[in-house]
Amino acid sequence: MPLTYKKQNGQLVWVQNPFSGTVTYFTDIHKKQSGFRRPTVAPASQAPDWQAAEAARLAELESARRDCPFCPGNEEQTTAEVMRVVPEAVEGCAATGSPWLIRAFTNLFPRVPESCTGGRNESYVVVEDPRHFADDARHHDELLYTALLPLTQFRAVLYADIEVARLAYSNPSVRDVLIRKNQGRESGASQPHLHNQVIGADQVFPPVVQERHRLTEEPGLWRDILAFVEDEGFVISKRDGGLLYFCPFGVFPRSYEVVFPDVEGRLTEVPRSVVDSFAALLHEVLGLLGPLPLDYEIHDAPGLPLHAHLCARYYPYSNIGGTLNLPSDLATTLRPTRR
Ligand SMILES: [Zn+2]
Ligand SMILES: [Zn+2]
Repeated sequence: MPLTYKKQNGQLVWVQNPFSGTVTYFTDIHKKQSGFRRPTVAPASQAPDWQAAEAARLAELESARRDCPFCPGNEEQTTAEVMRVVPEAVEGCAATGSPWLIRAFTNLFPRVPESCTGGRNESYVVVEDPRHFADDARHHDELLYTALLPLTQFRAVLYADIEVARLAYSNPSVRDVLIRKNQGRESGASQPHLHNQVIGADQVFPPVVQERHRLTEEPGLWRDILAFVEDEGFVISKRDGGLLYFCPFGVFPRSYEVVFPDVEGRLTEVPRSVVDSFAALLHEVLGLLGPLPLDYEIHDAPGLPLHAHLCARYYPYSNIGGTLNLPSDLATTLRPTRR
C-alpha cells in the first residue's frame, strides 16, 4: 500500500506524506481558543482635520511607490531588464500608463551562487504588474496581490516565467530551473511589489529528486494519491486532464496541488494548451486564498507529472516531531472564500 493512512468511522485519522514521510493528524486543534488577543484599536477619531489626515496617508503611499525599485519610473534601480511584456499584448489588463505590464531582470541577490552556474547569475525576478497597491488603496497593507490579476495576465506572467526559464537553460551549467512565488511578508517575500522568481541551479532541486525517486519505486503512486483525494472530497477543480486539490500532507497545514498526471517534462517543452490549463488551475487556487500570505513552487521535470505545490501561510498550525495537525472537519470547510 503506497499511500498510508488510517480511517476510523469513515473519518481520516492520519495520512502520511508518501515522499517525505511526514504525518498529518486530523484533530480538533481548530477548537482551541487562542490566548492571543489583538490590541483593541480605538475607533478612528472624528478628527476635524480628516482631510489633512487623508492627504498624509496618500502622500505616504506615494512615497512607498517612489522608493520601490519595482515600480515604473524606478527601472534604473534594478539590474538590466531581460524581457518585458507590454500592456497591449494582454487582453483585459488594467490601464495604468506604464510602458510595461510584466518585466524581468536578474535578482540582485542570486539564490544560487553565481560560481555554481558558470559565473552567470541565474536568479531572476519577474514583476507581475506595474501597480504597487491595489486599486483605491488607502493603507500600506492594501497591496496588489496575484489573485487580483485577470486570468489573461496571470497566464502572460507564466509565459514570461517560461521565457526566462529558457534563458536560464541556455546556460550549460544550469541543470534545473524553479518557478516560485512568495506572497506576503509572512511567506518570506522581501519586496511588497507583486513579483515571482525564476531560479536556475547547478543541480536538480532536492524535492524533485525525492519525488522522482519515490515514483521510480512506486510508478502508480501519484495515481493512488489522486484516487485518495477524490475519495476524500478534496478535489476542488478539474480541467483538461489537470486537477486542483487540497493536499492533506503538504508542508503547511493548508496546502494545495495542481497536477497533470499525464503530462511530464519541463514547462519550456509542454504544449501551450497544457500551460494555459495549468495557469487556469493555479489562478483558481490563488483566487481561493486571495491576499493571504502564501507560496507556490512549480515542479516540472522529466520523469515527473507536471505539478505545483501551493502553501497558505496564514492558518495556525502545530508542527511537532515531523507531524502536522489539521482540523478534523476540514473537508467541510475546504472552500471558505470561494466565490
Ligand atoms: Zn512598487
Ligand atoms: Zn513536487
